[in-house]
Amino acid sequence: MSKRSIAELASMGGSPVFSDALHVGQLHLPEWDDFERAFEQIFERRYFTNHGPLVREFDRKFAEHVGTKHAISVTNGTIALMVACKALKLRGEVIVPALTFPATAQALVWAGLVPVFCDVDPTTHNLTADLVEPLITQDTTAILGVHLWGRACDPDGLQELSRTHGLKLFYDACHGIGCTYKGRMVGQFGALAVFSFHATKALSAAEGGCLVTDDDDLADLIRTARNFHVSESFADVAVRINGKMTECQAAMALLSLERFPAIAEQNRLLYERYRERFGSIGGLSFVDHALGEESNYQYCVVEVESDELGFSRDKLVQVLRAENIMARRYFRPGLHRLEAIRKCYPQYVHQLPNTDRLTSRLVQLPLGASVNCRQVDQVCDLIEFCVQNAEAIDRNVAVDAAGD
Ligand SMILES: *Cc1c(COP(=O)(O)O)cnc(C)c1O
Repeated sequence: MSKRSIAELASMGGSPVFSDALHVGQLHLPEWDDFERAFEQIFERRYFTNHGPLVREFDRKFAEHVGTKHAISVTNGTIALMVACKALKLRGEVIVPALTFPATAQALVWAGLVPVFCDVDPTTHNLTADLVEPLITQDTTAILGVHLWGRACDPDGLQELSRTHGLKLFYDACHGIGCTYKGRMVGQFGALAVFSFHATKALSAAEGGCLVTDDDDLADLIRTARNFHVSESFADVAVRINGKMTECQAAMALLSLERFPAIAEQNRLLYERYRERFGSIGGLSFVDHALGEESNYQYCVVEVESDELGFSRDKLVQVLRAENIMARRYFRPGLHRLEAIRKCYPQYVHQLPNTDRLTSRLVQLPLGASVNCRQVDQVCDLIEFCVQNAEAIDRNVAVDAAGD
C-alpha cells in the first residue's frame, strides 16, 4: 500500500509497507530436494570433513570458474584472509582500505600485522596506486586491495607499484564472485585472492571461504597453513590453523555455484530496475558497477546528497527500516574509527577524508532472494514519496538507528 500522507509512514506510527523484512544480503538457498539429496549422500559416505570428495570437487570447479590454477576452500572468508597472511609470510605493515568489512583488517591483526589505512578514490570507492604509494615505508610488506562492491581495485596500478617496491599484493575478493576486470575474473589478480561464501554473499555455503592462486608453491603453503595437523602438503609455514571447509559446506557451495548464473541474472533484473528508477530521483545517485564488465549485481549502492535531498542519509535509513526495508550503511564507520582500531592507531582519524565522506553518504538497498521487482518498485515509490515530502521528513523524523 502506498502512503498518502507522512502520518502513514511507519516511522510516524503508520503500518509498514512490508510485513516481512527485505534484506540487503543475498540469502539465496538451494532447492530443498537438491539439498536433501546432497546431505543424504554425505550421511551415507560418513565422510564429513578433512578434504572430502565434495570439497575436492568444489575446489576443482571453483578454480575453473575463477580461471586460476588452484582454489583452496576454508571455513570462511576471515580465516581465508588469516591463512593468506601466513602463506605469504608477511611481517610488518600491510596497506589496506578502511572502507571495507571489519574482517579485512581484523585478519591482519590476528596474523600479527600492522594495518596501515589508506583512503579510497571517491568514484570507484577503491584503493589506487596513487593513494597507496605515499604510505609505503621500510616496514611495508604487502598491499591488501578490496574489490569493493565487486569493482576491480586498480589491478594494473597496484601490480606495477608492488613490483617496483618489492611488495606482495593480494586481494579481498569477497564481493567479487563472477566480476571481471578487462574481461578477466577479478580473482586472477594479485599473488592470491580471497572469497567469502557467507549466506549474505552471491555464492553461499551458509559459511565458507576460498583462496585462489596460480602459484604452485603458494598453494602448497596455503594447504598446509589451513590445517592444524594432517594435511595434503607439508610446506614450511610458521603457524597453522584449523580452517578446513566441511563436506556440508561444500555441498551447499556446489549447489550455489551451479545456480550462480541464475542468481546473478536475478540480481541484475532487480539492479536494473533500481537504476531506472534512480535516474529520476534528485539527491540520490546510483553507484554503478564498472561499465563493460561482468558483475554479480549483489549490491545496490546509492550515494545520498543530503543538501539536495532535503534530509539526511540517516533519516532516510530510519524511514526505510521502519517500513521493513532493511537498508544498510556499509561500511560505517570506517575501520579507522572502530573503537578497537582507533585505540591502537589513532592517527588515521583525520587522514581519510574520502572514506569519511563516503561512510556518511552511502546506503545499500535490499537486493537478492528476499526481494522481487514489484517490491523494488514499492521501495522506489516510498523513496520518491519521501523526496516529495522532504521538508516534513526532515522536521519530523528523529534518528535513533544504531549499527550499520
Ligand atoms: C564478507 C566479507 C568478509 C568476511 O567473510 P566471512 O566469510 O564472513 O568471514 C571479508 N571481507 C569482505 C569485503 C566481506 O564482504
